[in-house]
Amino acid sequence: MAFFSTSERLEIGNVPFVSNNAKPTRSEALEYYRRVAASAGLAIHYFEEVLKVEQGNIHAVVTSKQVYHARHIIIATGFYGIPYLLNVKGEELPKVTHYYKDPHFYAFQKVLVVGANNSAVDAALETWRKGAEVTMVIRNETIGRRVKYWVKPDMENRIKENSIQAYFSSSVVEIREQEVDIQTPNGLITIENDWVIAATGYQPDLSFLSKIGIELSADGIRKPYYDPDTHETNIKGIYLAGVICGGMDTHSLFIENSREHAGKIVGHIIVQ
Ligand SMILES: Cc1cc2nc3c(=O)[nH]c(=O)nc-3n(C[C@H](O)[C@H](O)[C@H](O)COP(=O)(O)OP(=O)(O)OC[C@H]3O[C@@H](n4cnc5c(N)ncnc54)[C@H](O)[C@@H]3O)c2cc1C
Repeated sequence: MAFFSTSERLEIGNVPFVSNNAKPTRSEALEYYRRVAASAGLAIHYFEEVLKVEQGNIHAVVTSKQVYHARHIIIATGFYGIPYLLNVKGEELPKVTHYYKDPHFYAFQKVLVVGANNSAVDAALETWRKGAEVTMVIRNETIGRRVKYWVKPDMENRIKENSIQAYFSSSVVEIREQEVDIQTPNGLITIENDWVIAATGYQPDLSFLSKIGIELSADGIRKPYYDPDTHETNIKGIYLAGVICGGMDTHSLFIENSREHAGKIVGHIIVQ
């Protein structure tokens, strides 16, 4: 997966960014973030879920492992918390995932990718390039309009040359251990299948914010309240950063245009 829409330099602090590609790949981006974390000596507590935050002069952060106390908290929980489900029979089978990670896992096997936006396109192209036999089921008549412009032709050409079989205006009806039923404009078909990658999108866990006491807008976007200059919410000392700031408008923010959040937040905290 190529990351970032430009090849601009993405240095954080004094950690240099080096890419061998016109656009950094996912693994290059992850390697870079790992180096930033190591160089800054970040104290990261892994596999620990924040269950709730109790407001106070000093806030209490209750996690699955312990309780922390902090005057300032920055919430950057993203929007991959809750996947949109297919709601079909068989979705609960272990062969179905909403969180695609490693293309090698699927090598030489029959993979069905549901969806046609960035996650689906990346999963389809990457697994195909590792030798998977890839089929796509796409609800609409075309590939998603938000697919990165430098990736879209690759996807469309793989479909055109039949390297990847795509069923447009179609939907999954049932998933079984070794087969999937698909409703297509030409009727119901059954294909052999080993794995289903349901790249059907996600929604942010906004109830997590409202339980803390952060106000959400009353419209459908449910945008959390924060001061645009400081990113402080309606609760003193609690800040929001990253794509969670967009509420249900999950595509308004991405890596490049949310990098400025950190500077605004830290700038506000240090003058407190
Ligand atoms: C396939 C794909 C390709 C993409 N390509 C690009 C690209 O080229 N350019 C670009 O700018 N963006 C791209 N994006 C989008 C980019 O990944 C997001 O914009 C970015 O990751 C958002 O960062 P974030 O820190 O706000 O949230 P996230 O990266 O989603 O991080 C949120 C973190 O919070 C954790 N978390 C959530 N709730 C809790 C809790 N209760 N307790 C503890 N931890 C919690 C999550 O586990 C996660 O680690 C892509 C996304 C996908 C899926």
